[in-house]
Amino acid sequence: MKHSLIVGLGLAGLAYAEHLRRAGLSFCIIDGGKGGSSQIAAGIYNPTVLKRFSLSWNGDLFHSYALPFYEQLQSRLDSDFIHPAPIHKIFIKQSEHNDWVSASDQQGLKMFLDPKIHANANVEVNATLGHGQVDHTGRVATQTLLKSFRNSLQPEELTMETFEYDKLETTAFGIQYKQIKAEHIVFCEGYQMVNNPFFKMLPLIGLKGEILIIKAPTLKSESILKGPIFIAPIGDDLYWAGATFERNDKTLNCTSQGRSWVEERIRKMISSEYEVIEHITQIRPTVMDRRPLIGTHPDHQNIHLLNGFGARGVLGAPLLSKWLLDHIEGISELPTAVNLSRFESYFRQSD
Ligand SMILES: Cc1cc2nc3c(=O)[nH]c(=O)nc-3n(C[C@H](O)[C@H](O)[C@H](O)COP(=O)(O)OP(=O)(O)OC[C@H]3O[C@@H](n4cnc5c(N)ncnc54)[C@H](O)[C@@H]3O)c2cc1C
Repeated sequence: MKHSLIVGLGLAGLAYAEHLRRAGLSFCIIDGGKGGSSQIAAGIYNPTVLKRFSLSWNGDLFHSYALPFYEQLQSRLDSDFIHPAPIHKIFIKQSEHNDWVSASDQQGLKMFLDPKIHANANVEVNATLGHGQVDHTGRVATQTLLKSFRNSLQPEELTMETFEYDKLETTAFGIQYKQIKAEHIVFCEGYQMVNNPFFKMLPLIGLKGEILIIKAPTLKSESILKGPIFIAPIGDDLYWAGATFERNDKTLNCTSQGRSWVEERIRKMISSEYEVIEHITQIRPTVMDRRPLIGTHPDHQNIHLLNGFGARGVLGAPLLSKWLLDHIEGISELPTAVNLSRFESYFRQSD
């Protein structure tokens, strides 16, 4: 019997499985193979909110936990998915200079915001007012990470199929799904949670993001550029550019409006010639109150959820999945802010 059956191998499922492995606990993962948000994310790890020059929620805590977690994983997998790079926040108003300098002196932000106003050194970047630099940031190449992790699994640890909810039984020892017996089942389905009969009543809103992969041979930026969108170098003169934030359309169709929206912003930020190589989209698993959705089903003590990572899964996944495992093992309680029990009434409304 396994400790956990994990449904979904994105950043959430991966981080939870890795914690089980480190604790010497067994698992089996089921993934539908269609990919999710983690497959197209820029993978930027940035604990700041550059619209407001503030820290993101628990940004410094998640950052201090996530980096050693990924470094250890990178070394275990003998892979290369962590790419440190500063973020250059392009200033658009003179008044931002003062705001930046005072923010860089604040507790928590000091470590990340370089107080200097940098003059622009790249002629192809449109930054006449210069930029502020965010340090200790970079990219986790999520596709490489997921691929390396998948390749490291034993055949019995991964089943590629779409989970069939009606085949799940709760038993005296835990759960059974087809031939798989486990003490716990942890759903890590990203936005696809909206199809999960155990949790679909929870307020996972979802925010569609369309992105472009562009080739810009003369741009030569090794920093992540932040203007109205992110333009992040991903190697071989390719850049990840995006993303849109669309609330109403929950399809995985790439739209001409989405592409134009991103391209308009690329042109504002850089003067380089570029070619669009790819146009892709996914839905961020965002929650009504912008906090993760983690915890145990109120009526089934062996059925758990690890979701709601929103637009910041890279930094959040390692510690949030540890919190869930510690909660399942009875080691510590989940912080109220992330515990799905804050939406307990939603389960009753659907009765
Ligand atoms: C355009 C865009 C850009 C982003 N950029 C960043 C960024 O730069 N930095 C950052 O930190 N975050 C970023 N994010 C957010 C980040 O991608 C998410 O927070 C994170 O990847 C969510 O991971 P997850 O494992 O919860 O879900 P997902 O990555 O969606 O994974 C869910 C997995 O579950 C599987 N699955 C679902 N249902 C079933 C089922 N019934 N049966 C079997 N398998 C199933 C899916 O196939 C998938 O593999 C971005 C998101 C988008 C859309």
